[in-house]
Amino acid sequence: MKSMKNDNYKTIAALAAQVKGFLAEDEGMALYAIALTAAKLGPCLEIGSFCGKSTVYIGAACKEMGVTLFTIDHHSGSEEQQPGQPYFDPEIFDEKTKTINSLPYLRSTIKKADLEDTVVPMVTRSKVAARNWATPLGLVFIDGGHSYESALSDYQCWSRCLLPGGFLIFHDIYMDAAKGGQAPYEVYKKALASGDFEEMPMVNTLGILKKRGAVVVKKQAGG
Ligand code: MG
Repeated sequence: MKSMKNDNYKTIAALAAQVKGFLAEDEGMALYAIALTAAKLGPCLEIGSFCGKSTVYIGAACKEMGVTLFTIDHHSGSEEQQPGQPYFDPEIFDEKTKTINSLPYLRSTIKKADLEDTVVPMVTRSKVAARNWATPLGLVFIDGGHSYESALSDYQCWSRCLLPGGFLIFHDIYMDAAKGGQAPYEVYKKALASGDFEEMPMVNTLGILKKRGAVVVKKQAGG
């Protein structure tokens, strides 16, 4: 049983390793493990799909548990990914439209990972997707724009949808300003100060918060 689980981990990590992105393997594995628990409560949602590296990890857990993963990205790249900026990658630059376009990479990842019946890509800005959103969520992963305004907006738009016992996870939490931008950490601290969340141990740069309140685990179909 244990080796089966390890083989599963290896397959997921090997798939994710082929995908462009900025998520470390330990962070991906933590997302996978948490999503397995979160999916017992409801569907999962991530902001910042990019080419689908984290989508592979969270999606694999959602597939196993029979729930949907919604993944949001405008796919035009972040500020740092534009031409002339430090994270510019010519491979995701569409010469025809002269814009960044990561959507074909996400679609290819979803297909390769056999997640077409699990993952719902939403090609829009997070705020627009949130406007009429009413589905309660088991997990929200915030890895979109890294400006304070973007991270705050993602937190405000989506944390309200989390079910009690659900997980709010931030990527790129750097407690040391010399190691990385502070905006996600500022928003993480704001979320913690709200009193609505319990702080879980960090995994690399993943900040993990659990929504307080009485947990209602849905009965699985046929269970
Ligand atoms: Mg990130």
